[in-house]
Amino acid sequence: MTAANQPVPFLDLAGVNGALRGDFELAYAEVLEHGRFINGPEVARFETEFADYCQAAACVGVGNGTDALELILAGLGIGPGDEVIVPANTFIATAEAVCYVGARPRFVDVLPDTLLLDPDAADAAVNKNTAAIIGVHLFGQMVDTERLLRVTAKHGLAFIEDAAQAHGARFAGQRAGGVGVAAGFSFYPGKNLGALGDGGAVVTQDAELADKIRRLADHGRSADSRFHHDLRGRNSRLDSVQAGALSLKLRGLDQGNKGRVRAWEQYLAELPEQVRPVTRHAKAEAVYHLAVVEVDNREKVCAGLTEAGIGWGLHYPVPCHLDAAYGDYRAESLPVAERAAERILSLPMSPTLSERQVARVCEVLRSVTE
Ligand SMILES: *Cc1c(COP(=O)(O)O)cnc(C)c1O
Repeated sequence: MTAANQPVPFLDLAGVNGALRGDFELAYAEVLEHGRFINGPEVARFETEFADYCQAAACVGVGNGTDALELILAGLGIGPGDEVIVPANTFIATAEAVCYVGARPRFVDVLPDTLLLDPDAADAAVNKNTAAIIGVHLFGQMVDTERLLRVTAKHGLAFIEDAAQAHGARFAGQRAGGVGVAAGFSFYPGKNLGALGDGGAVVTQDAELADKIRRLADHGRSADSRFHHDLRGRNSRLDSVQAGALSLKLRGLDQGNKGRVRAWEQYLAELPEQVRPVTRHAKAEAVYHLAVVEVDNREKVCAGLTEAGIGWGLHYPVPCHLDAAYGDYRAESLPVAERAAERILSLPMSPTLSERQVARVCEVLRSVTE
């Protein structure tokens, strides 16, 4: 095999984490030394750093991104009898969190250009039971927060951000995490800011809500007593080892996101015309968690990529409202999400993706689409 046609991984996680190996080992040794595996000093330090990064007032480390969303809903008192609007095109966890607090997800369609929540569809779906809208910043691009905030303000609803794929993204200059009532982040290893295992965070401008969520995530403990519980809580905490690793990775987040933007811009310049990239809103500064394109003949394109040793993914081939477990919430058809689900394809994307690798992916795409 010549250098020009080496395999291209979908995500080069070993490359991303390998560079920090020595630092991770030192951070781990420190935790072993002090022994505070839960609630160690690493957690508070990372929470402060990440709140600052998101231009928000507070950050609460939790077990994962799904828990972050669930705890936000619970913290806002959303539960049985309430409806929460979510886009049909998202990772299933968005809907899962709504169901876990006992509320009903109300699936709405997405915009054909960005494949993000359609604010007009959200507006039209509001009824007397609606409590919140979860805007999902999918693929690394924030939803149109200006239009969505007009909808939530008009109806007096909470705007919750699912920012699991958007660490560092901006819309109209504002960072993901600082715009809504609260935002849920995931630090799943493959995310733009990924831990060495599971992790998540709630980020918010509301210090009181942050405090309530912190207690909910720690068994509902009273502020002044370990043995009394004034809330019915649960256990969902970010541990010290993960927080230590996340502080180290946060330092490289902007640089990694720049690498993703560079790779995406090269895709835009070199993709054949039959491969149509998802559009970016003029006010959005996206961080390209995923490089999503639409193609007419996905099966053939995927087979060609596999044959050439090029990684790919599907995000997401089953719209949430058509997924078996959510059949109870199937509403009218949502044509944009349904059509996109059959056509979208995620190309290789990593902070470390090289010019040569993007060129190779585009070359293979040209040969399979002509
Ligand atoms: C990853 C992800 C989640 C869930 O995060 P976990 O940490 O895996 O629980 C939620 N929403 C979206 C859009 C995601 O991509």
